[in-house]
Amino acid sequence: MISDALQIVKDRIAQAAKRSGRNPEDVSLVAVSKQVPAELIVQARQAGQTCFGENKMQEAREKISHLGEQEYQWHFIGHLQKNKVKYLFDGFDLFHSLDSLELAEAIQKEASRRNSSIAALVQVNISGEESKSGVAPEELEKLLIDLSRLDKIKVKGLTTIPPQNPDPEDARKYFAQLRALRDKMESLNIENIQLSDLSMGMTHDYEVAVEEGATLVRVGTAIFGPRANQ
Ligand SMILES: *Cc1c(COP(=O)(O)O)cnc(C)c1O
Repeated sequence: MISDALQIVKDRIAQAAKRSGRNPEDVSLVAVSKQVPAELIVQARQAGQTCFGENKMQEAREKISHLGEQEYQWHFIGHLQKNKVKYLFDGFDLFHSLDSLELAEAIQKEASRRNSSIAALVQVNISGEESKSGVAPEELEKLLIDLSRLDKIKVKGLTTIPPQNPDPEDARKYFAQLRALRDKMESLNIENIQLSDLSMGMTHDYEVAVEEGATLVRVGTAIFGPRANQ
């Protein structure tokens, strides 16, 4: 049952928060519903889950048009191509993966055209893996300064995806690094830049992420079961 799986994840988030002296209410669960059929998303919604994460724009758009944006909060968590930027304004509450100034400028332009704005997290490639998207840690300060001029983008924090390792403890240092980087950037007091959110942790390592300060965990498999392909 989806409701049982959701409850287990929420309990584990709460326990991890308490273990690290945090308030469980400061951690939000993003149910990652990529490749999950709408019926199961409805079940999760009925079990009280409101926030869902999607990583493919076409699939996300179909779900949003089917399920709506009143009862659901949709987060875009995948890599976004510049030619799809306009779709961010059709029902998304948060964009987790802003990773370049070029993309940001396209978003700013589209938002101005629509007289709208969007909340976003900057994705950081904290481990430096070649295959990962995200800005390099040493380039973050410059990007944030550039983003502070783009008034239609409301930066709320940072996202990272650590390397995949069998032991979730291996992710801890990357989560801690992201938090430390956030603290350092926050101390610069860059205008229009808020960094209160940390989006980190997936099925495999969300408890470690919560212990290290995650405010948003993106969990799919533990809620909906394994996906057909990754
Ligand atoms: C798929 C995905 C997740 C969720 O992964 P699970 O291991 O199923 O919890 C989280 N974040 C991103 C960016 C994803 O693409």
